[in-house]
Amino acid sequence: MSKRYQNHIGGKWIDAVSGETFENRNPANWNEIIGTFPSSGAEEVNAAVESAREAFDAWRLTPAPERGDILRRVGDIMTARKKEIASNMTREMGKVLDETMGDVQEGIDTAYYAATEGRRMFGHTVPSELHNKFNMSVRRPIGVAGIITPWNFPMAIPTWKIFPALVCGNTVVFKPASDTPLTATTFVEILIEAGIPPKAINLVHGRGSAVGTPLVNHENVDLISFTGSTVVGKSISKSASDTLKRVSLELGGKNAQIVLDDADLELALEGVLWGAFGTTGQRCTATSRLILHAKVYDRFMEMLTSRAASLRLGDGLQSDTDVGPMVNQDQIDTVQRYIGIGKDEGAKLALGGSPYREGACADGWFHEPTIFTEVTPEMRIAKEEIFGPVLSVLTINSFEEAIQVLNNTKYGLSSSIYTNDVNCAFKAMRDIEAGITYINGPTIGAEAHMPFGGVKETGNGHREGGWEVYEFYTETKSVFVDYSGKLQRAQIDNY
Ligand code: NAD
Repeated sequence: MSKRYQNHIGGKWIDAVSGETFENRNPANWNEIIGTFPSSGAEEVNAAVESAREAFDAWRLTPAPERGDILRRVGDIMTARKKEIASNMTREMGKVLDETMGDVQEGIDTAYYAATEGRRMFGHTVPSELHNKFNMSVRRPIGVAGIITPWNFPMAIPTWKIFPALVCGNTVVFKPASDTPLTATTFVEILIEAGIPPKAINLVHGRGSAVGTPLVNHENVDLISFTGSTVVGKSISKSASDTLKRVSLELGGKNAQIVLDDADLELALEGVLWGAFGTTGQRCTATSRLILHAKVYDRFMEMLTSRAASLRLGDGLQSDTDVGPMVNQDQIDTVQRYIGIGKDEGAKLALGGSPYREGACADGWFHEPTIFTEVTPEMRIAKEEIFGPVLSVLTINSFEEAIQVLNNTKYGLSSSIYTNDVNCAFKAMRDIEAGITYINGPTIGAEAHMPFGGVKETGNGHREGGWEVYEFYTETKSVFVDYSGKLQRAQIDNY
């Protein structure tokens, strides 16, 4: 019998009212059931929001440094349990152990950053235009935060949202992806163990439409922070406008790596392999396009296809695995659909192209690393997010053309250029339409203390990570103290 997990609502671990559950399976071996989790809906969301609302007053009045101290303890517990959390994450979503260890580490880094932010919730003091008057701005928590997350970074992404929400004094209703409910459950257990008031952190498992929709529509939820696909992000943005909620959206990407003819090709090769096939291509920052200078095309493609062909597929818990499985059959189907589209559009399949079911991979959602060449900028495989181990290669003849091709998508998350020409590097930093640009590094690899997010249809202008995210989770209040003892009318009595 697989273990039965629960929601955390109103300070208690409880089943869904209906008693219904869903299974969480290991994508490297779908016969392994990791656990069953409650299939929740609006009733559970209502109870969770009520709990978070009830806990809000006491939590907002807890001094911010004290709130931060609890997050430091969260970081300590996560550090002590890092390997165990990472192994379970690999079992539930497939990426290799090195990467799940990195995912947990990003959560730890975010915890320690957030802990100190409790002592740094700066406002401003500025001079008044009137005599004997004092002006300042202070930051206030907003209320109940609805947090909706994807499965590809099951620990890092929830921590990017929930730590700043909590340290700023908000309470939380957390709806994790249904492919990674175990990591979410462990995370909430740790928050409670460290001292977050149990009613302030609520966890509701279930499907997006069943749990996410009522959360977004709820009139007592003050903000939504969502990471996921652009199509769902747009629908959330529309629904949330009915209650004028604050909404942060981190959405899809179609990231590209440019390799110019003066680049260090060995370095660029390591970058594109890691960027395109790390996390089996299921990263929002994955390298989905290689924009390659014609002068180095033949040499680089030979290097790339031979290295990509030698990547070893397997269970992410095995130390000799380079590429783990995809998360589920739906992801395989999406990738297969795009491979069909690429062929129909006239691109050439240079490597891979099929699901992989050999040997130890027989019962898992594995897919061959796949490379398309002869891709042109207007093809769908050059512009749309695939979210799998598929790389589209486009050829260019100049730096200017490379930038034009790179910008030719509705997304704008991450980007990269390999060149030793400092002028090209600086022009790329200026002209690439993306929230993130790497010079001589792959498109993937966020750091907890740097702002993270994208432009165009990758988001709605907010950032996670670093100092910027704290703006999202607080309201600014302007405070005026008039100690003149008389009525002073701004703009009237002084001019
Ligand atoms: P998804 O949009 O299908 O789901 C994301 C979350 O939203 C899940 O928890 C899901 O259950 C929930 N959801 C689904 N439908 C909903 C609805 N109607 N209302 C409310 N919630 C709903 O995305 P996914 O497949 O889990 O993740 C992959 C996508 O996420 C990719 O597009 C990827 O680029 C994107 N992503 C973006 C970032 C970023 O920071 N920009 C990071 C990671 C992933």
